[in-house]
Amino acid sequence: YKDVYGKGKPIDIDPRDRKLSFSAIKVLASRYLLKDAKTWRFKETPQMMFRRVAHAIAEAEFVYCRNKGNSDEYCSEATKFWEEKFYEIMSDLRFLPNSPTLMNAGTRLGILSACFVIPVRDAITTPEGDGIYDAVRAQAIIFQQGGGTGFDFSELRPEGDIVASTGGVASGPISFMKMFDANTDVIKQGGKRRGANMGVLHVWHPDIEKFIDAKSGKLKDINLQNFNISVGVYDYFMDAVIKKSKVPLINPRRTNVRPDLGNDSRFYIISKARHYLNEDWVQEAILEELESKGGSIWIDETVMVTIDEAMAIAEDKDAIVKYEDASKLFEKIVRNAWDSGDPGLLFVDTINRRHPVWYLGKINATNPCGEQPLLPWESCNLGSIDLSKYVYIDSEGMPRIAWRQLAEDLRVIARFMDNVIDVAKWPLPQLEQAIKRTRKIGVGVMGWAYMLIKLGIPYDSVDAIYLAYHLAEWIEYNLALASIELAKERGSFPIYDSSKYKPTWLTAKPLEELLNIAGIKDRPSKKVLELLSDRPLVNWNYIEKLRKEVGMRNATLTSIAPTGTISILAGTSSSIEPIFAVAYERHVTVGTFIEIDPLFLEYLRKYELDNADMIKLVAERGSLSEIPFVPRSLKTLFRTAHDIEPKWHVLHQAVWQQWVCAGVSKTVNLRFDATVEDVREVYILAWLLGCKGITVYRDKSKAQQVIYVGVKM
Ligand code: UDP
Repeated sequence: YKDVYGKGKPIDIDPRDRKLSFSAIKVLASRYLLKDAKTWRFKETPQMMFRRVAHAIAEAEFVYCRNKGNSDEYCSEATKFWEEKFYEIMSDLRFLPNSPTLMNAGTRLGILSACFVIPVRDAITTPEGDGIYDAVRAQAIIFQQGGGTGFDFSELRPEGDIVASTGGVASGPISFMKMFDANTDVIKQGGKRRGANMGVLHVWHPDIEKFIDAKSGKLKDINLQNFNISVGVYDYFMDAVIKKSKVPLINPRRTNVRPDLGNDSRFYIISKARHYLNEDWVQEAILEELESKGGSIWIDETVMVTIDEAMAIAEDKDAIVKYEDASKLFEKIVRNAWDSGDPGLLFVDTINRRHPVWYLGKINATNPCGEQPLLPWESCNLGSIDLSKYVYIDSEGMPRIAWRQLAEDLRVIARFMDNVIDVAKWPLPQLEQAIKRTRKIGVGVMGWAYMLIKLGIPYDSVDAIYLAYHLAEWIEYNLALASIELAKERGSFPIYDSSKYKPTWLTAKPLEELLNIAGIKDRPSKKVLELLSDRPLVNWNYIEKLRKEVGMRNATLTSIAPTGTISILAGTSSSIEPIFAVAYERHVTVGTFIEIDPLFLEYLRKYELDNADMIKLVAERGSLSEIPFVPRSLKTLFRTAHDIEPKWHVLHQAVWQQWVCAGVSKTVNLRFDATVEDVREVYILAWLLGCKGITVYRDKSKAQQVIYVGVKM
């Protein structure tokens, strides 16, 4: 305040800024609030930042309004109206856009999205700008402005393969990844924040074993430290793991079938067809099916092969390097994930089965934290609602959910997010083209654990799962309505095709099915059914009718981000994670924070347990599970990530995923003493439950982690 208002002027702190916690202010001061380049003094307060963002994002309204032939005066009023709405939801901390929007909106920097996927073709550079070094350049530009990048390296020829132009040998995807990693280190110094990457290699690639080992054992605290790595696995692979059969490894350089499909789709057909055709009984069944369908078969919803092609695939012997035991690869994956957290899995078939604009091609990679499976050059801007702010206490003292207020806010948010696409300045033409084709937006949630605590529902309970499913549906429903309304006003996204578009709401698995798969027999309590009874009815048939008549403004609507920073700003629990600990040390770029969970402190006060001895005990342990004298109700409500059995972590991810168009970022946090078998179960359950990916992290499995349970006294 002193910096902004100068000396001599009385300092009235905006009451809305008083809502921000100490940590929130520290984070904002570090990189979010604008500073004067010469004096290094702050140019804005937190409320001024929200105003800057609201103003910049509302500018899109003016353009749309003018394009409809309205007067300047009218359009200024309309723009101001939306600016106020945007400002209000942000400054009340009910909704926050992802960090790049907060940092860059209304400034010279134009990237407002957190998530990008960049293609890496098997060439040094290409005229289209999608070779290996073109990708390195794109990565640097995106990092400079605070975005995160994901890459599929599967098209790169394996280590030791021939380089025709030089007669040399190829170094393979893993060595190229090291360069992307080093690039991240270099850019980190001057950029807005530490760059993050996702590296994907598909399970059919000949270098897959090296990839699986790239961040574990001796390498775990050394190699590829700026990468999360994930193995792209397919249903055929998971089936082979269970049946203990073999899968082919394929050299991407040596395949020649169906060039029109793009490289990865070709390998996809080959690996699938190869796998199936190798087993006699399957071979017969497939050939029968091929014949019955007039000589062609859909390998998946995007790829159809004819009998001739299937035969060519079967005979394309050069491409197959060898056959590998699927279960051997899988055991290596789970052992390493147990050891170091990497690799995670991407379930490529699930992603593509549920990809609303599947007709644009197959998705092979995600952004760094997995919440956005994207096509090459695509990006997505994120924004998250703090669910805990939608719990209110009714006249009888019972906590309830403000369903209608949530619905109203979602309309404002959809508009905000759609505007972001227009006001962003895109540093590469490919990025602009890709996003403007589909206008994908990613609205997510934070404060889910806090919401549950405020409602008195334990995280590891059927009640929580029931509520998650119906709340996620409500969010998707209202955003769908909002996006249809926007389509009426502004038109559908350019490549919208009403007959091909596959809405998320038509592919959600029923809750009963999920509970059955997970072996959960309990049913929801009366309390949760009552909470749900306040929710207005949803009518998906009505949405489908509207969608077909009017269209959709955005190809995807929802995405659950980790909300690592914005949840600190909002003073809430992050994403859909359970609380990590009741007391913790958090190591972030701007320093180390030692914190006691503020909601927990509130509850301690309620129970008159907020004495020095208790706080000391809680701070040391980080969890209540073994502390005597704490009421049982408090213990069950404040169960932490490590107190909660892994199955419940996966279930939360899976139920939210059903109503989420993109992906869900979630870490299944395991206790230090968890076993390799626990990881194996988590990975298989995630696949069975229809998650799009899965990641685990076993406590203290790496030399350094971002957050530690308890405080070293
Ligand atoms: N991200 C990044 N670097 C970071 C943190 C995040 O590039 O240090 C990107 C990454 O794509 C991640 C996304 O931002 O998946 C969203 O992360 P999060 O929700 O934690 O971001 P926030 O908006 O809270 O800063």
